[in-house]
Amino acid sequence: MGASVPLLPGEAGVRAALNGTHVDLSVATATARRFVDPLLAVVFPSACPACARLLTHPGRGPLCEPCWASLPRHEAVVCRCGLPIAPGLSACGRCRRGRQPFASGASLGPYEGTLRIVLHELKYAGRRRAAGRLAEALLEVPAVRTLVSTSDVLVPVPLHPRRLRERGFNQSALLAGELARRAGTTACADALVRRQDTVPQAGLTAAARRRNVREAFAVRRRASLAGRTVTLVDDILTTGATALACARRIEGAGAREVRLLTVARVV
Ligand SMILES: [Zn+2]
Ligand SMILES: [Zn+2]
Repeated sequence: MGASVPLLPGEAGVRAALNGTHVDLSVATATARRFVDPLLAVVFPSACPACARLLTHPGRGPLCEPCWASLPRHEAVVCRCGLPIAPGLSACGRCRRGRQPFASGASLGPYEGTLRIVLHELKYAGRRRAAGRLAEALLEVPAVRTLVSTSDVLVPVPLHPRRLRERGFNQSALLAGELARRAGTTACADALVRRQDTVPQAGLTAAARRRNVREAFAVRRRASLAGRTVTLVDDILTTGATALACARRIEGAGAREVRLLTVARVV
Protein backbone atom coordinates (compact mmCIF):
# COMPACT_ATOMS: atom_id res chain seq x y z
CA MET A 1 0.00 0.00 0.00
CA GLY A 2 2.95 2.31 0.79
CA ALA A 3 3.73 3.22 -2.81
CA SER A 4 0.10 3.94 -3.65
CA VAL A 5 -0.44 6.44 -0.82
CA PRO A 6 -0.82 9.83 -2.54
CA LEU A 7 1.53 12.45 -1.24
CA LEU A 8 0.92 15.66 0.64
CA PRO A 9 2.30 19.00 -0.50
CA GLY A 10 6.05 19.15 -0.16
CA GLU A 11 6.56 15.43 0.11
CA ALA A 12 6.87 14.40 -3.50
CA GLY A 13 10.26 13.74 -4.89
CA VAL A 14 12.09 14.70 -1.73
CA ARG A 15 15.20 12.60 -1.46
CA ALA A 16 18.07 12.86 0.95
CA ALA A 17 21.46 11.27 0.89
CA LEU A 18 22.04 9.62 4.22
CA ASN A 19 25.26 7.71 4.86
CA GLY A 20 25.63 7.38 1.12
CA THR A 21 22.20 5.75 0.81
CA HIS A 22 19.33 7.55 -0.90
CA VAL A 23 16.32 7.61 1.39
CA ASP A 24 13.03 8.48 -0.23
CA LEU A 25 11.47 10.85 2.29
CA SER A 26 8.11 10.74 0.54
CA VAL A 27 7.80 7.04 1.39
CA ALA A 28 9.09 7.69 4.91
CA THR A 29 6.48 10.39 5.55
CA ALA A 30 3.68 8.36 3.98
CA THR A 31 4.62 5.47 6.26
CA ALA A 32 4.72 7.76 9.30
CA ARG A 33 1.28 9.08 8.41
CA ARG A 34 -0.14 5.57 8.28
CA PHE A 35 0.65 5.37 11.99
CA VAL A 36 -0.15 8.96 12.91
CA ASP A 37 -3.46 9.21 11.08
CA PRO A 38 -5.35 6.53 13.05
CA LEU A 39 -3.96 8.12 16.22
CA LEU A 40 -5.21 11.56 15.19
CA ALA A 41 -8.59 10.05 14.38
CA VAL A 42 -8.87 8.79 17.96
CA VAL A 43 -7.39 11.78 19.81
CA PHE A 44 -9.07 14.50 17.70
CA PRO A 45 -12.10 12.82 16.15
CA SER A 46 -13.50 14.93 13.33
CA ALA A 47 -16.46 14.30 11.08
CA CYS A 48 -16.82 14.50 7.33
CA PRO A 49 -18.63 17.81 6.61
CA ALA A 50 -20.62 16.10 3.82
CA CYS A 51 -21.97 12.95 5.51
CA ALA A 52 -21.00 13.31 9.20
CA ARG A 53 -19.10 9.98 9.20
CA LEU A 54 -16.04 10.08 11.49
CA LEU A 55 -12.84 10.49 9.50
CA THR A 56 -10.41 7.57 9.62
CA HIS A 57 -7.69 9.57 7.82
CA PRO A 58 -8.06 13.20 8.96
CA GLY A 59 -4.68 14.02 7.40
CA ARG A 60 -6.13 13.25 3.97
CA GLY A 61 -8.35 16.31 3.77
CA PRO A 62 -11.78 17.29 5.02
CA LEU A 63 -13.93 14.59 3.39
CA CYS A 64 -14.18 10.89 4.29
CA GLU A 65 -12.83 8.40 1.75
CA PRO A 66 -16.27 7.32 0.40
CA CYS A 67 -17.14 11.00 -0.21
CA TRP A 68 -13.80 11.62 -1.98
CA ALA A 69 -14.48 8.57 -4.13
CA SER A 70 -17.95 9.78 -5.12
CA LEU A 71 -17.41 13.45 -6.01
CA PRO A 72 -20.06 14.50 -8.54
CA ARG A 73 -18.89 14.31 -12.16
CA HIS A 74 -20.25 15.91 -15.30
CA GLU A 75 -22.60 13.60 -17.13
CA ALA A 76 -23.54 15.87 -20.02
CA VAL A 77 -21.64 15.89 -23.31
CA VAL A 78 -19.08 18.68 -23.27
CA CYS A 79 -17.74 20.94 -25.95
CA ARG A 80 -13.96 21.04 -26.53
CA CYS A 81 -13.92 24.20 -24.37
CA GLY A 82 -15.41 22.17 -21.52
CA LEU A 83 -18.90 23.70 -21.59
CA PRO A 84 -21.77 21.21 -21.39
CA ILE A 85 -23.70 21.04 -24.66
CA ALA A 86 -27.02 19.55 -25.72
CA PRO A 87 -26.87 16.04 -27.21
CA GLY A 88 -26.47 16.14 -30.98
CA LEU A 89 -24.51 19.42 -31.00
CA SER A 90 -20.80 19.36 -31.76
CA ALA A 91 -19.88 22.67 -30.12
CA CYS A 92 -21.27 25.31 -27.77
CA GLY A 93 -22.68 28.57 -29.10
CA ARG A 94 -19.58 30.56 -28.27
CA CYS A 95 -17.24 28.07 -30.01
CA ARG A 96 -19.56 27.92 -33.07
CA ARG A 97 -19.44 31.71 -33.32
CA GLY A 98 -15.64 31.61 -33.04
CA ARG A 99 -15.75 33.81 -29.95
CA GLN A 100 -14.24 31.39 -27.49
CA PRO A 101 -10.72 32.27 -26.38
CA PHE A 102 -10.19 28.81 -24.90
CA ALA A 103 -8.75 26.22 -27.27
CA SER A 104 -9.75 23.54 -24.79
CA GLY A 105 -11.18 23.29 -21.33
CA ALA A 106 -12.29 20.87 -18.64
CA SER A 107 -13.73 20.67 -15.15
CA LEU A 108 -14.27 17.82 -12.73
CA GLY A 109 -17.98 18.15 -12.10
CA PRO A 110 -21.01 20.30 -11.33
CA TYR A 111 -20.84 22.73 -8.41
CA GLU A 112 -23.11 20.73 -6.11
CA GLY A 113 -23.10 18.10 -3.36
CA THR A 114 -19.72 17.03 -2.02
CA LEU A 115 -17.82 19.09 -4.59
CA ARG A 116 -19.52 22.24 -3.35
CA ILE A 117 -18.82 21.26 0.27
CA VAL A 118 -15.13 20.53 -0.28
CA LEU A 119 -14.61 23.79 -2.19
CA HIS A 120 -16.29 25.62 0.70
CA GLU A 121 -13.99 23.88 3.18
CA LEU A 122 -10.98 24.92 1.10
CA LYS A 123 -11.99 28.55 0.67
CA TYR A 124 -13.81 29.48 3.83
CA ALA A 125 -12.51 27.01 6.43
CA GLY A 126 -8.90 27.18 5.27
CA ARG A 127 -8.67 23.41 4.65
CA ARG A 128 -5.76 23.83 2.25
CA ARG A 129 -5.08 20.12 2.05
CA ALA A 130 -8.25 19.81 -0.01
CA ALA A 131 -6.35 21.44 -2.89
CA GLY A 132 -4.01 18.46 -3.17
CA ARG A 133 -6.84 15.94 -3.13
CA LEU A 134 -8.77 17.92 -5.73
CA ALA A 135 -5.67 18.08 -7.93
CA GLU A 136 -5.36 14.29 -7.63
CA ALA A 137 -9.02 13.83 -8.56
CA LEU A 138 -8.66 16.16 -11.54
CA LEU A 139 -5.54 14.42 -12.85
CA GLU A 140 -7.29 11.04 -12.71
CA VAL A 141 -9.44 12.31 -15.60
CA PRO A 142 -7.44 11.46 -18.77
CA ALA A 143 -8.54 14.63 -20.62
CA VAL A 144 -7.45 16.79 -17.68
CA ARG A 145 -4.09 15.06 -17.36
CA THR A 146 -3.42 15.65 -21.07
CA LEU A 147 -4.56 19.27 -20.83
CA VAL A 148 -2.29 19.97 -17.85
CA SER A 149 0.78 17.98 -18.84
CA THR A 150 0.92 19.52 -22.32
CA SER A 151 0.64 23.08 -20.95
CA ASP A 152 3.75 25.22 -20.54
CA VAL A 153 2.38 27.10 -17.56
CA LEU A 154 -0.64 27.04 -15.24
CA VAL A 155 -1.93 30.46 -14.25
CA PRO A 156 -4.44 30.84 -11.42
CA VAL A 157 -7.18 33.48 -11.51
CA PRO A 158 -5.86 36.08 -9.05
CA LEU A 159 -7.79 37.25 -6.00
CA HIS A 160 -8.45 40.84 -5.07
CA PRO A 161 -5.52 41.96 -2.90
CA ARG A 162 -7.97 42.72 -0.08
CA ARG A 163 -9.54 39.23 -0.31
CA LEU A 164 -6.07 37.70 -0.38
CA ARG A 165 -5.16 39.54 2.83
CA GLU A 166 -8.37 38.38 4.54
CA ARG A 167 -8.10 34.75 3.44
CA GLY A 168 -4.35 34.44 3.56
CA PHE A 169 -4.20 32.33 0.40
CA ASN A 170 -5.58 32.12 -3.11
CA GLN A 171 -7.36 28.76 -3.51
CA SER A 172 -6.83 28.82 -7.28
CA ALA A 173 -3.09 29.35 -6.80
CA LEU A 174 -2.99 26.39 -4.39
CA LEU A 175 -4.78 24.25 -6.97
CA ALA A 176 -2.47 25.37 -9.78
CA GLY A 177 0.59 24.61 -7.64
CA GLU A 178 -0.66 21.14 -6.68
CA LEU A 179 -1.58 20.33 -10.29
CA ALA A 180 1.76 21.54 -11.65
CA ARG A 181 3.78 19.62 -9.08
CA ARG A 182 1.93 16.38 -9.78
CA ALA A 183 1.96 16.75 -13.57
CA GLY A 184 5.56 17.93 -13.83
CA THR A 185 4.75 21.34 -15.26
CA THR A 186 5.04 24.94 -13.99
CA ALA A 187 2.63 27.24 -12.19
CA CYS A 188 3.02 31.01 -12.20
CA ALA A 189 0.91 32.44 -9.38
CA ASP A 190 1.51 36.10 -10.20
CA ALA A 191 1.37 36.09 -14.00
CA LEU A 192 -1.90 38.03 -13.65
CA VAL A 193 -2.90 40.47 -10.94
CA ARG A 194 -6.30 41.67 -9.88
CA ARG A 195 -6.60 45.35 -9.21
CA GLN A 196 -8.31 46.74 -6.16
CA ASP A 197 -12.06 47.20 -6.59
CA THR A 198 -12.72 50.61 -7.96
CA VAL A 199 -16.33 50.64 -9.17
CA PRO A 200 -18.84 48.41 -7.31
CA GLN A 201 -20.65 46.04 -9.69
CA ALA A 202 -24.08 46.69 -8.18
CA GLY A 203 -26.19 49.08 -10.23
CA LEU A 204 -24.11 48.76 -13.41
CA THR A 205 -25.55 47.72 -16.75
CA ALA A 206 -24.49 44.35 -18.17
CA ALA A 207 -22.08 46.01 -20.62
CA ALA A 208 -20.58 48.17 -17.86
CA ARG A 209 -20.15 45.07 -15.68
CA ARG A 210 -18.30 43.28 -18.44
CA ARG A 211 -16.04 46.28 -18.92
CA ASN A 212 -15.52 46.48 -15.16
CA VAL A 213 -14.49 42.79 -15.00
CA ARG A 214 -12.23 43.21 -18.04
CA GLU A 215 -10.45 46.13 -16.43
CA ALA A 216 -10.01 44.23 -13.17
CA PHE A 217 -7.09 42.13 -14.42
CA ALA A 218 -3.62 43.04 -15.59
CA VAL A 219 -0.57 41.10 -16.74
CA ARG A 220 2.40 41.16 -14.41
CA ARG A 221 4.66 38.47 -15.88
CA ARG A 222 4.46 38.87 -19.64
CA ALA A 223 7.54 36.71 -20.19
CA SER A 224 5.85 33.70 -18.58
CA LEU A 225 2.90 33.98 -21.01
CA ALA A 226 4.31 35.14 -24.36
CA GLY A 227 4.55 32.35 -26.93
CA ARG A 228 3.42 29.72 -24.44
CA THR A 229 0.52 27.32 -23.96
CA VAL A 230 -1.23 28.70 -20.88
CA THR A 231 -3.90 26.98 -18.78
CA LEU A 232 -5.99 29.29 -16.64
CA VAL A 233 -6.96 27.59 -13.35
CA ASP A 234 -9.93 28.49 -11.17
CA ASP A 235 -11.99 26.74 -8.50
CA ILE A 236 -15.50 27.47 -9.78
CA LEU A 237 -16.78 28.64 -13.14
CA THR A 238 -20.07 30.51 -12.89
CA THR A 239 -20.90 32.96 -15.66
CA GLY A 240 -17.44 32.68 -17.19
CA ALA A 241 -17.00 36.48 -17.22
CA THR A 242 -13.94 36.35 -14.97
CA ALA A 243 -12.30 33.52 -16.94
CA LEU A 244 -13.01 35.33 -20.19
CA ALA A 245 -11.50 38.57 -18.90
CA CYS A 246 -8.34 36.72 -17.77
CA ALA A 247 -8.14 34.90 -21.12
CA ARG A 248 -8.23 38.20 -23.01
CA ARG A 249 -5.30 39.47 -20.96
CA ILE A 250 -3.34 36.24 -21.52
CA GLU A 251 -4.02 36.46 -25.25
CA GLY A 252 -2.95 40.10 -25.17
CA ALA A 253 0.36 39.06 -23.61
CA GLY A 254 1.04 36.94 -26.71
CA ALA A 255 0.23 33.44 -25.46
CA ARG A 256 0.26 30.76 -28.18
CA GLU A 257 -2.84 29.05 -26.77
CA VAL A 258 -5.16 29.56 -23.79
CA ARG A 259 -6.95 26.69 -22.02
CA LEU A 260 -9.28 26.61 -19.05
CA LEU A 261 -9.37 24.23 -16.10
CA THR A 262 -11.80 24.57 -13.21
CA VAL A 263 -12.67 22.16 -10.40
CA ALA A 264 -16.39 22.79 -10.66
CA ARG A 265 -18.75 24.44 -13.07
CA VAL A 266 -22.17 25.85 -12.27
CA VAL A 267 -24.55 24.03 -14.59
ZN1 LIG B 1 -18.32 11.74 3.93
ZN1 LIG C 1 -17.32 25.50 -26.54
